[in-house]
Amino acid sequence: MNERDVVVGAGQMGNGITHVFAVAGHPVTMVDVSRDALAKGRATIEKNLARQVQKGALDAATRDAALDRVALSDTLGPVRAADLVIEAATENADLKFSIFADLDAAAPAAAILASNTSSISITEIAAHTGRPAQVIGMHFMNPVPMMQLVEVIRGLATSDATTRTVLELSTQLGKTPVEVNDYPGFVSNRVLMPMINEAVYCLMEGVGSATAIDTVMKLGMNHPMGPLALADLIGLDTCVSILDVLHRGLGDPKYRPCPLLRKYVAAGWLGRKTGRGFFTY
Ligand code: NAD
Repeated sequence: MNERDVVVGAGQMGNGITHVFAVAGHPVTMVDVSRDALAKGRATIEKNLARQVQKGALDAATRDAALDRVALSDTLGPVRAADLVIEAATENADLKFSIFADLDAAAPAAAILASNTSSISITEIAAHTGRPAQVIGMHFMNPVPMMQLVEVIRGLATSDATTRTVLELSTQLGKTPVEVNDYPGFVSNRVLMPMINEAVYCLMEGVGSATAIDTVMKLGMNHPMGPLALADLIGLDTCVSILDVLHRGLGDPKYRPCPLLRKYVAAGWLGRKTGRGFFTY
């Protein structure tokens, strides 16, 4: 039987993951506590599929079939018939622990529970379930339909069988999985976030303007986006949350979030999603 996979969270990552699963032929239910987020998430999937058709990357029939595979729900009910759940809710540890306890209670015993967390310990998330061998990190990159990498994160108790299933699934989705172990920030954000944070310090100390800092990194280091524009894309609130996890988890002051980054978040300047961050949109 073709079960429905479930994606928890309809924000920028959740709708991107839902998009990729639907295009790859998986019936998928996108769950969010906010009906507004569900409506916006679905509209984003439609817009991004239309863009792919326009670019010739997809044909219209594939787009229509993909949209037909997407269902929406504002409760975790659909988890009862899922063999895979991917959680992509807000980056907050207590929220994720509580979602995973609920998923564990609702999902079939054999189901795999994956998290798209950017930095929160997979081992600790797994400890809030009775099935730690079936809990794993499946870390997609933003924007999900465009980006090739899935960082697959093994918690301390994650089994070989769970890892194999998720590596194979990632390949079937058209992505390239890379297996890593569970330490704060994994590989991607352990390396990326200190660079973004240092760019914000450069801005705060007046070493250069936002445009100057990003241009140095684009033209000088061959990065496709500057670190400040990338922070705006990720979401400045998410960047602070990840840096807090690195700072606490590794205990090294080099990971302390820059005060200017905290100030932007306090002002509600969260980047693209609010129309203003280091740049305006
Ligand atoms: P977002 O703020 O765009 O979306 C989060 C969504 O979660 C919101 O729609 C919110 O309503 C929903 N939510 C909150 N509590 C919920 C609950 N109990 N049940 C269901 N839905 C709930 O955030 P995002 O950028 O999509 O990030 C989601 C996850 O993906 C985070 O863990 C983040 O660290 C990770 N991530 C983000 C990026 C990025 O570039 N933004 C990249 C990789 C991974």
